[in-house]
Amino acid sequence: MTPKRITVHSSATQPKTYLTADDIRKMHLKRGWSDIGYHFVIRTDGAVERGRPLTKQGAHVYGHNKNNVGICLVGGIDERGVAEFNYSGAQLHALYALICELCEDYGIPYEKVCGHRDYSPDTNNDGKITPDEYVKECPCFDVRGWFIRKLQSDGVEL
Ligand SMILES: [Zn+2]
Repeated sequence: MTPKRITVHSSATQPKTYLTADDIRKMHLKRGWSDIGYHFVIRTDGAVERGRPLTKQGAHVYGHNKNNVGICLVGGIDERGVAEFNYSGAQLHALYALICELCEDYGIPYEKVCGHRDYSPDTNNDGKITPDEYVKECPCFDVRGWFIRKLQSDGVEL
């Protein structure tokens, strides 16, 4: 595939549950998939692991996997199993660096960076995907807004 957009996910596990790309790969193989669905996994310690090779289409957004790079942040739910923004500073730092690198390497425009929940259908057709329309919370934060703010604080001209 040719990377043209980037979608960020959460593993929907508690941050204290140590999870690696290999663990996620095993979970996805059990579902009968050919490989891990994501191209990258970012562990709670900020380590970036490779998942499915970027040359291959991923399996992470139903109906929107074509040329779509999938990045999974380990974490995203609390003790009660409720969606929570609980990623570590190291993770977010690594995420930002990875997204910047991918955008540069593949010429991906910044506006093509989003979170899984942004694919939810716009049921009232107002052109915005609002919280009441989220099919799932993943990854529990406004990825595009966060990314744009980081770029601006880095002095990148948008
Ligand atoms: Zn997701």
